Amino acid sequence: MPVFLRVQKTAPFFIPLWLDIEPMISYNLPMPSQLDSLQRRLEESARQHGASLFGVADLAGARNSGFSKPPSIIAGYPRAISIGVVLAPSIVDTCIDSPTRFYAFHYRVANSRLDAITFILAQMLLDAGYDAMPIPASQIVDWDKLTGSTSHRIIGYLAGHGFIGRNALLVNPRYGARVRYASLLTDVLFLNDVPLSGVDCGSCRECIAVCPAGAIGETINEFNLEACKDKLDYFKRHLVGHHICGVCVRVCPGKVRQ
Ligand code: SF4
Ligand code: SF4
Repeated sequence: MPVFLRVQKTAPFFIPLWLDIEPMISYNLPMPSQLDSLQRRLEESARQHGASLFGVADLAGARNSGFSKPPSIIAGYPRAISIGVVLAPSIVDTCIDSPTRFYAFHYRVANSRLDAITFILAQMLLDAGYDAMPIPASQIVDWDKLTGSTSHRIIGYLAGHGFIGRNALLVNPRYGARVRYASLLTDVLFLNDVPLSGVDCGSCRECIAVCPAGAIGETINEFNLEACKDKLDYFKRHLVGHHICGVCVRVCPGKVRQ
């Protein structure tokens, strides 16, 4: 069993930060070139299997920000790989004022695809002698707040995929809110991405007007989670059997086309 010398990246060098040493076993100290190669292979594999977005979040500064429940889940993981799959515009566009069965099916397929990709990437890391923990794309653990064990939205933000919009979703400059995300925690200190700066909703207010719950305000602090949750409960019971909506996703297609 390998022992990992964990290192903190301070470009262009990797500096040893702390040691977890177990007796009678040798170090497994990845060199920067090995890390680069592994990171490239992971990204290539993710993209080959359907991911449009791939990034690495530095979790070190976010440990106490409450996005993980319990916080111990991320304790041994200084990095998280964030991947995103883009939803089909033709499907999202069916959600005029409520979710459709097309959207519900597509949503499930996207989540399955994300889970398959994080599973594959985790196997690649495990095979290479590292630790990895895939976080399910859609698994609610706190039904009051509709949150999972860790926030893919926050990890995606830290990985530079986008900004948090008025609709409380992660908004990617190219694909808007029409992306589903999943995360893979790892102890490998990959070169991390950084949050985007200088981008936000700007003058756009499309989602405020269309939200059937009136849950979206001028700022993220005004977002009414209870109102949104009640509407998702209604959609689950009466329309699609799932806590989904899609309306504020539909009107947020991304402002910067590449
Ligand atoms: S629709 Fe516009 S206002 Fe709403 S989150 Fe997207 S960019 Fe922001
Ligand atoms: S998911 Fe639906 S109810 Fe919730 S904020 Fe978006 S549009 Fe409103």
